[in-house]
Amino acid sequence: MYLLRKLENWRVLSAIKKYPVRFSDWASIRSLACIRNLTSVEKARLRILISVFLKQKIFVGEQDIFITDEMKLIVAAQACVPVLKLGLNYYSGFVQINIYPTAFWVEHNDQDEGGIIHRKKRLLSGESWQRGPVVLSWKDIKLDLKHDNEGHNVIIHEFAHKIDMLNQGANGVPLFPVNFNTDEWGKVFRQAYHQLLSRQQHHKKTCINLYAATSPAEYFAVVSEYFFTMPLHLKQCSHPVYNELKLFYQQDPALKSKS
Ligand SMILES: [Zn+2]
Repeated sequence: MYLLRKLENWRVLSAIKKYPVRFSDWASIRSLACIRNLTSVEKARLRILISVFLKQKIFVGEQDIFITDEMKLIVAAQACVPVLKLGLNYYSGFVQINIYPTAFWVEHNDQDEGGIIHRKKRLLSGESWQRGPVVLSWKDIKLDLKHDNEGHNVIIHEFAHKIDMLNQGANGVPLFPVNFNTDEWGKVFRQAYHQLLSRQQHHKKTCINLYAATSPAEYFAVVSEYFFTMPLHLKQCSHPVYNELKLFYQQDPALKSKS
C-alpha cells in the first residue's frame, strides 16, 4: 500500500515536472465560468489534475489542424473540472482526443419503425466513443469560450458521456462512488427527464436545451454542462437534479456563482 502510494506520488510529480501549468497558462483559463468559482484548494487540485491529464492523453489534429499547447490546456482544464473530486480514473478507459477544425460529419446506421436500416450522416461538434477517443470541434470550443456561462460546453458534454459510459454504456446512469444513493438519483432523473419529454410534446417552454430530451444519456450530459457553467440557472430550473449532481460530482458550483 505504502509502495503503491509512493509510486502514485512519483507519477504525479513527474507529470507536474513534464507538463507544468505555469502561471501565465493558468491566467488564461482561471477566469472561465467553470473554474473561477472553485475554492483555492480546488484550483490547486485542478492544476495537478491538468498536468496528469496532459501526460496521460494523446491529442490528434484532424484535417491538418495543428494542436498547440494552449489548445491542449484549454481542453484538459475543462475536461478535468467534472472529475475534480471523482478522480482521473474516470477517464482511464481511453487515451486519444481528436480535434477537428470545425464541426465534422459522421455516418451511422438508423433503424426505422419497419426495422429497415438507413445510413445517415450527421454534423457534430463533439462525439465520445465507447472505449475510444473523444472527438471535438475546435471552432465550437472557441465559441463556448466566448459564451462560457450560457449552459453550453462541448468539452464538459463529451467528457460527461465518458463518465456515463463507465456504467453499462451511455444510458444517463454514471459510475457512482461507493455508498451513493442510486435509488434517489434514479427517481429524480427519471422524473426530470419525463417532465422534459412531456413539455416538449406539449410545445411548452423548457429551461434547458431541448437536446437533453434526445435520450437519458444526452440529458445527463446537458445538465452536466449547465451544472458547471450555469449552476444557478440549473438550481432554479430543477433543484432536485442540481442536488443529485452536487452529490455525484462532490462540488457545489452555485455556492459562489453570480451568474
Ligand atoms: Zn451528447
